[in-house]
Amino acid sequence: SSIFDRVKEAPPDPILSISAAYRADPSPKKVNLGVGAYRTDDGSPYVLPIVKHFEQQFANDPSTTHEYLPQDGFTNFNYHSARLILGHDSSALKEERVVTVQALSGTGALRIGFAFIANFIGNRLVYIPNPTWSNHRNVVPQAGLPPTKNYRYFEPNTRAVDIEGLLQDLSIAIEGSIVIFHGCAHNPTGADPSKADWQRILKVVKSKKLVPFFDNAYQGFASGNLDTDAWSTRLFVESGIDMFVAQSYAKNMGMYGERVGALNVILSSSGPVTAVKSQLKQLIRAMYSNPPLHGARIAAAIMSDKESFRQWEMELEKMSARIQTMRLRLRDALNKNGAPGNWDHIVNQIGMFSFTGLTSQQVAFMRDKYHIYMTSNGRVSMAGLTESTVDYVADAIKDAVE
Ligand code: PLP
Repeated sequence: SSIFDRVKEAPPDPILSISAAYRADPSPKKVNLGVGAYRTDDGSPYVLPIVKHFEQQFANDPSTTHEYLPQDGFTNFNYHSARLILGHDSSALKEERVVTVQALSGTGALRIGFAFIANFIGNRLVYIPNPTWSNHRNVVPQAGLPPTKNYRYFEPNTRAVDIEGLLQDLSIAIEGSIVIFHGCAHNPTGADPSKADWQRILKVVKSKKLVPFFDNAYQGFASGNLDTDAWSTRLFVESGIDMFVAQSYAKNMGMYGERVGALNVILSSSGPVTAVKSQLKQLIRAMYSNPPLHGARIAAAIMSDKESFRQWEMELEKMSARIQTMRLRLRDALNKNGAPGNWDHIVNQIGMFSFTGLTSQQVAFMRDKYHIYMTSNGRVSMAGLTESTVDYVADAIKDAVE
């Protein structure tokens, strides 16, 4: 017998297993709409030219080293990252009530944030939108907190945010609970609260003393504008409450595999700043000692130079515009081929994904007959579509829903 005999096989990850199935499919017609990564119009991964520029510059610079970073990461990166999400005129930054630590992309920011909560805030309940990015349900208990609770988020009939249900659920949440919000481009629904909705949500959060944890995986990638996509986060931060803000540079800088991100802890008063920072560093020391340098060095270079920043902004506009074009192309192709139903939600949704409304049976049908891959909840990665596949996909959807 072995100590490993009792280990049960884990279920496959609902998102990552799709790419594996796609890779194993020999069909030349196959299309991957599962992947949460940007693709060009010929279906290739995209390295932003400004990222490439700094990569080459650092590679050729004889003074570039590969020394350890401190536990909390690259100081210049943290400085600019906090300003990117909170805004240069943020009162929290001016009042020095923000602790920013570099993290292993967005997932890592969530992971250390929840580990911090489990260790220093207490055994609080964590509310997540229903539906949400499936990994939220893994990260929270893995960090030592109880299993997550759902709050209503989406109304399938209207294909919009169920704002009344959301407010009701938060208003009966246990006081002091943590609430995950997607800062923009909600994954998987592509439906975001309006500005007026966010203001109502903030009111409930304050009255129930809830602790918001903003997950920002798509800043600048959703609307094409970095400030627009930070609006909800800034509204909450400016209200002066204790909260957490996770950032990822996977999508907006296309540095998926480099694991560039940050966790910002916003304190309502500056008193405990030093203590919070020291404990975060201690947590990181025990988990992985210190974060990787390569991607953070590039991100910091882009964010600290005016001209490079402007080039990045133009890239964000370009990537989000291609996704928007694909939304229009898919909606128009479905109207043209006569697929039953109204497909306007495809153009009204925002971000990387469209929540098509396809059932898990229809998703399986499209995979088996057409070699088109997407998550079983009918979530389609718009970035996975191209001019040459959009009609094929539209015809397959028509066949599936008829
Ligand atoms: N949060 C949400 C809602 C996401 O969609 C993603 C990526 O798909 C992430 C966080 C984290 O991604 P990463 O760890 O690659 O930054």
